[in-house]
Amino acid sequence: MLTLASYLRDSWQGGQDPQTPLYDPTTGTPIAQTSTRGLDLAAALAHARAVGGPTLRALTFAQRGELLNQLSAAIHGARDALIDVSRQNMGTTRSDAKFDIDGAAGTLAFYANLGKSLGDRTFLLDGEAIRFSRSARFLGQHILTPKVGVAIHINAFNFPAWNLCEKLATALLAGVPVLAKPGTATALLSVKIVELWLEKSLVPPGVLQLLVGSAGDLLDHVGPQDAIVFTGSGATGQEIRKHPAVIAHSVPVNVEADSINAIVLAPDVAEGSDLFNMAVAEIAREITQKAGQKCTAIRRIFVPHALADALKAELVARLADVQIGDPALDRTQLGPLAGPSQQRDVLAGIAELGKHAENVFAGAAPQGGCFVGPQLFWSNAGLDAAYVHDHEVFGPVATVLPYDGSAQLAVQLVARGGGGLATSVYGDDQAWARAVLLGIAPWTGRIYWASSKVFDQGTGHGAVMPALVHGGPGKAGGGEELGGERGLRFYWQRTAVQGDVQILKAVLG
Ligand code: NAP
Repeated sequence: MLTLASYLRDSWQGGQDPQTPLYDPTTGTPIAQTSTRGLDLAAALAHARAVGGPTLRALTFAQRGELLNQLSAAIHGARDALIDVSRQNMGTTRSDAKFDIDGAAGTLAFYANLGKSLGDRTFLLDGEAIRFSRSARFLGQHILTPKVGVAIHINAFNFPAWNLCEKLATALLAGVPVLAKPGTATALLSVKIVELWLEKSLVPPGVLQLLVGSAGDLLDHVGPQDAIVFTGSGATGQEIRKHPAVIAHSVPVNVEADSINAIVLAPDVAEGSDLFNMAVAEIAREITQKAGQKCTAIRRIFVPHALADALKAELVARLADVQIGDPALDRTQLGPLAGPSQQRDVLAGIAELGKHAENVFAGAAPQGGCFVGPQLFWSNAGLDAAYVHDHEVFGPVATVLPYDGSAQLAVQLVARGGGGLATSVYGDDQAWARAVLLGIAPWTGRIYWASSKVFDQGTGHGAVMPALVHGGPGKAGGGEELGGERGLRFYWQRTAVQGDVQILKAVLG
């Protein structure tokens, strides 16, 4: 069996036994193993600070952008091989693998362009110079400089390519070296991507390290200039925030966590209209894409009473048609979950959801492997629907909740999820839109508004665009990533500088 190593201090290093298995979820058989026991993680962080940081900070934004450009091109050039790896270790269909891998290359390319546009500087000014008196000889100016620590990226299992690259893109462009830890269950794809970059000698020493397996004592060694960006469950996010070294050094922690995302249909959506049909197609895609293992996937479907039966019937018909099985086959639309432990969690979640909502469709799953058929639930309990609003079942599962169509209740229902990453709203009425959009905005990181005019032009509910922020309040972790230049700010110190205008000009330009 393949034994994976971690890339630390510019070399591949294996951990001591016992090893943790990684599976091919289509068959349920182990295909690789990994361990981080005995690895010197304090030395790894020190290496990033001493070697990778100075190298990156000496590069201009344009040069850092060029590095990202090459990382992106390498992924694009090996696309088909990486799609195979994704299928082996995550059971993804070709289309689901592309969503992850093309998203990774695209996000790197986006930040490469941003680097080019930021040009030959190594740090940025923040806003205009500020005058305090009549004299123009003494001014104040905010500046943004890269932290001199390490960006520690702890990723979830569901996007081993995109999660690695979207975090890497912002940190490297900001000028901060990275130690990335992929979710162990699907780490093979992250390993292959880093191998690819190293084969092409794209990564300068100390700029990128990859920890493959458990985090071990990593967080014991964080320091005051480090920054942690975490994606995963809310419970792990809380553990990281509470870590004594994180608290002692005031290390900033960005958390992207569970999110009970929603779609709301407005009362003016007519059965059989383009907007209605588009909503049906989008919900079905959100349930099945990546077997529902998407942080942005729609879990709650709020639909006016008058439209609810029709929506349910259309969704059931679509889900019944979904081809579930071997992701290597072209006809397959829904592959297995990422591994045995993900399958156990999702089956337990479905059983619990079934105690609180009616299961109106349960797709059959093939025997063997880590398959779970698509599931649709129904609840008339609205705001009181226990479990539905509180627990994310991280698989091909969603619940229809009919409501009265009022803007007020729509806002309350979205908010009942406690804070989410993405909410889609379908409707044309502008007065209703004003109440709903402004009402749900404090509760959601991204709002996707579909109307009759743009029903065929949108980017889709689930796709995270690098130009827009990704993150959400409350239950979703309270974090924010991407969003163009906004995504770099997490890695910078903002400093207010006051003084002699001549000196400020000489230093700051
Ligand atoms: P998880 O169990 O919380 O693990 C996430 C990452 O944290 C993994 O790399 C894991 O390592 C690591 N980890 C676990 N315990 C740790 C600790 N004490 N200290 C440091 N690192 C630790 O989550 P998951 O099962 O991978 O992902 C599923 C969850 O992620 C879902 O709830 C989903 O909603 C959420 N998610 C959110 C977003 C978002 O953008 N908001 C995106 C994707 C997924 P091991 O793999 O080695 O255990």
